[in-house]
Amino acid sequence: LVDARNVRKSFGTHHVLRGIDLRVDRGSVACLLGPSGSGKSTFLRCINHLESIDGGRILVDGDLIGYREHRGGLREMRPREVAAQRRNIGMVFQRFHLFPHMTALENIIEAPQRVAGVRRAIAQGEARELLDRVGLADYAGHYPAQLSGGQQQRVAIARALAMHPQLMLFDEPTSALDPELVGDVLAVMRDLAKDGMTMIVVTHEIGFAREVADTVVFMDGGVVVEAGAPAQVIGAPQHERTRAFIESVL
Ligand code: ATP
Ligand code: MG
Repeated sequence: LVDARNVRKSFGTHHVLRGIDLRVDRGSVACLLGPSGSGKSTFLRCINHLESIDGGRILVDGDLIGYREHRGGLREMRPREVAAQRRNIGMVFQRFHLFPHMTALENIIEAPQRVAGVRRAIAQGEARELLDRVGLADYAGHYPAQLSGGQQQRVAIARALAMHPQLMLFDEPTSALDPELVGDVLAVMRDLAKDGMTMIVVTHEIGFAREVADTVVFMDGGVVVEAGAPAQVIGAPQHERTRAFIESVL
């Protein structure tokens, strides 16, 4: 479903991504690990074109993300075209970014109603199913400030799912949470994976990566140092840098 080749990205003279390759099959889960500053968030943001790229290409479901062929080269898409591609890609951030003045239910129905033109009653019905799925059936009328961080993050996941994305991107979804709230969010993500959602997850939760990931990718300094099955990359890393990192987060 995802095929990224030789993705390059610089901010000024700082080469943040120096040729990243990643393939994620439909229905599979890739976990990205790596030290702070290694380019994980930047790479995720390139996948839904929140960042432009300087080289390489990213295909999601056969669509070239953010660019179209133009006179033998590539030309960046217009915002409206990018928006259409993004509807296929859900994203969940470290900080939940819920709309504070809307209830959990209103947060979830906002995009389906406004962007996808779904009728309110239908959007509400789906939102209730999604809230049930993330274990928050009784919280539809709560505002973000009335929810714990873990509950807010689960609403954020439900909100992303409401657009029926083919791909879900998670950028350290549990790292802003108190430890006792992490498990509920990971459980929701584990269920999603089990249901066949294609996911790319930046996380330091090694246990989750080991259990749920089909592929683990270790990035450092803007390159993929090592990628493969969890048993290989986490269980028997080939590179010293990978080994040192895994030890530091265990
Ligand atoms: P962390 O684990 O801390 O989240 P990360 O692997 O997600 O780190 P990125 O956020 O992708 O790392 O950042 C990689 C590098 O790119 C960092 O050095 C960061 O300062 C730089 N960077 C990211 N976004 C920008 C930007 N918009 N402008 C300039 N530099 C940026
Ligand atoms: Mg990051």
